[in-house]
Amino acid sequence: MKYYSTNNKTQTATLREAVIKGLAPDRGLYMPENIKRLPEEFFNNIQDLSFQEISFEVAKAFFGDDVEAQDLKKIVYETLSFDCPVVHVNGNIWSLELFHGPTLAFKDVGARFMARMLAYFIGNTRVNVLVATSGDTGSAVANGFLGVEGIRVFVLYPKNKVSLIQESQFTTLGQNITALEIEGTFDDCQALVKEAFADTGLTKQMALTSANSINVARFLPQAFYYFHAYAQMKKRGLGNNIVICVPSGNFGNLTAGLFAQRMGLPVKRFIAANNANDVFLKYLNTGIYEPRPSIQTIANAMDVGAPSNFARIIDMFNNEHSDICKCISGASYSDTQIRDAMAKCHELYKYTLDPHGACGWLALKENLQNGENGIFLETAHPAKFKETVENAINGQIEIPCRLAAFINGTKMSIPMTNKFEDFKRYLISSCLS
Ligand SMILES: *Cc1c(COP(=O)(O)O)cnc(C)c1O
Repeated sequence: MKYYSTNNKTQTATLREAVIKGLAPDRGLYMPENIKRLPEEFFNNIQDLSFQEISFEVAKAFFGDDVEAQDLKKIVYETLSFDCPVVHVNGNIWSLELFHGPTLAFKDVGARFMARMLAYFIGNTRVNVLVATSGDTGSAVANGFLGVEGIRVFVLYPKNKVSLIQESQFTTLGQNITALEIEGTFDDCQALVKEAFADTGLTKQMALTSANSINVARFLPQAFYYFHAYAQMKKRGLGNNIVICVPSGNFGNLTAGLFAQRMGLPVKRFIAANNANDVFLKYLNTGIYEPRPSIQTIANAMDVGAPSNFARIIDMFNNEHSDICKCISGASYSDTQIRDAMAKCHELYKYTLDPHGACGWLALKENLQNGENGIFLETAHPAKFKETVENAINGQIEIPCRLAAFINGTKMSIPMTNKFEDFKRYLISSCLS
């Protein structure tokens, strides 16, 4: 299947090119040329299939033309080494828990899939992945690529500006993962990565690629768990009138849900739940899209003022504002509302939300109608935001073993200045070529 750029439909690429490049040369986002509807029998029997079996069927619809079935199956099965259960919270509200992976956030699914697909496409050659992080992306990418043959990952992060829990998730791994602790800010880290990609002297000597979230191999696999969630609801006799609420930042997760719906998944409607960064809600209300600088909130993975996947949503609906509004509604919450939601849900229903999931739960609580079955995506484990959550619920939360294991690991980062020459010299001396 071909992938076109959202900036120009005649700019197409193969899946291999789209995965290796990430972004189209005209800075547009890649979109698959068609979204295949899955057969009716698939939906009739979906409740009897495992998460891996369901996901393999979905993966074949996108990648089946370009990746051998046996290889694709291996990629899917290895990616999904953990479950995404649907758990009842209260009334007609369920939580789709996406935090059972290695770094306790939904980004594990996309990062693990992309690492394996990239390894498949590069074959026997070697690639160096550069990623700048302010916290969460670094851990998902580093753990997703951990131990993958032929790939070396360099994570650049700003010294003293990442929480200890987050830092431990990418500085203690070793193997093919190198953490570079940069004397500077996140912007400095990002500038170093950009300069490296632009340095032809460097790119001639080594294959460099990025693992950013707009890559089709990171974003499309996020459709898997929407199907699995539906299967779990159907098994309980609750497969009708499903409303899915997605705590959103760059809108990759929500866009993957829209893809699932186009493939025939019976979802009645979606709700995009935001923190104070509400450009999407404003767009729904006015038809005008005005990106803004982001505002810092306690649901910080959603602090995005110019959501990158907005271009994909516009493309899917041919820029018809009224069609988008029929399918998606929006909500936006302040930090106070998010804290209150965490407190209330914990007190009344004994369910501990993280600050992102709290936006999702609250939006369902306020918008769900009688007869609808609401599922919100619980995008991260509350322990990742331990202090914020404990303050909100006025109690202690347990740290899962796999998170504690990171914290107890040995930090192995390489200190580095924010000067490009230092970074370049280091890369040349240690990259795979
Ligand atoms: C990345 C992230 C989000 C936002 O997801 P998008 O796909 O960017 O909309 C929400 N919650 C958590 C915990 C995240 O890490």
